[in-house]
Amino acid sequence: MAEEPGRVLKPGRVLKPINSSSDTDVLQSVKPGVVLTQAKENTSDASPPVRKEWSLRDFDIGRPLGKGKFGNVYLAREKTTKYVVAIKVLFKSQLQKAGVEHQLRREIEIQSHLSHPHILRLFQYFQDKTRVYLVLEYAPKGELYKELMKNTRFDERRTATYMYQMTSALKYCHSKKVIHRDIKPENLLLGLTGDLKIADFGWSVHAPSSRRTTLCGTLDYLPPEMIEGKLHDEKVDIWSLGVLCYEFLVGKPPFEAESNADTYRRITKVDLQFPRHVSEPAKNLVSQLLKHDPNQRLSLDKVLEHPWIKENRLPSTS
Ligand code: ATP
Ligand code: MG
Repeated sequence: MAEEPGRVLKPGRVLKPINSSSDTDVLQSVKPGVVLTQAKENTSDASPPVRKEWSLRDFDIGRPLGKGKFGNVYLAREKTTKYVVAIKVLFKSQLQKAGVEHQLRREIEIQSHLSHPHILRLFQYFQDKTRVYLVLEYAPKGELYKELMKNTRFDERRTATYMYQMTSALKYCHSKKVIHRDIKPENLLLGLTGDLKIADFGWSVHAPSSRRTTLCGTLDYLPPEMIEGKLHDEKVDIWSLGVLCYEFLVGKPPFEAESNADTYRRITKVDLQFPRHVSEPAKNLVSQLLKHDPNQRLSLDKVLEHPWIKENRLPSTS
């Protein structure tokens, strides 16, 4: 049976199709017969084939791309197809020590089922005794955060373009009842043409949720309802989209303060102030996203239709 595009291969498990047929899939040109074996226990019906287990031997490993909390990320190339990917290596001992195995499992489960031009693809994963390997779409232009640091802030065209891409990706996630919950520049990568890719689904969950994040990192992107430990839904991402838009335009997040306690106060009061250079239509959008009441926040559809976005965004490159 031939391999079809748009599938995520899971070691030892029957292939599950995922929706899109327009994916640029690392696996779509894998030669049938070379990598696919028929499932022995399923010979009687038209069951899909089971992939032999992937391993490190299937890849040539290149230079390190970055350092993560639980291991490193490397450039890599699948030997048969020559397809270039990024491989994230996670040490099981470190995952266990931090007690985040379930979080990784959720990240894999969620991200492997998402396929969108502005969401970093997770093609597959495998493991050996000591490590877990995630085979990811390679984002050649690296971290968006570094770009922001280099430029201090982005102009309105660039911001509106990123906002449009973010919004379409979030709309796709929400349609699948997935909330990301950790939208911030550090979790965004850039594709070959400079288009945005949401990465890092480590904190994502299925909506609605009352799951609390450990509030150890920055509070800057957290919405009032999450800080206050309330039940929250996908509208948390709409708040974070507003924070992101502000940070792109201004160069720092809107509720930044000396201490966490002060940030907390500014968020719950929605103490929002804009520098003079931000245009009225841009302020209008950000203000409509940063509403304390989640139900008052602008819908993602209306973000895509917002006049400032429509006038400023550059045509899609992906
Ligand atoms: P942290 O939470 O501390 O950011 P992490 O464990 O989430 O770490 P990542 O952020 O995923 O690790 O990866 C570490 C770095 O590797 C990134 O900041 C980025 O520079 C680089 N990197 C990760 N994935 C890719 C990719 N698909 N393409 C290109 N570079 C990548
Ligand atoms: Mg990260």
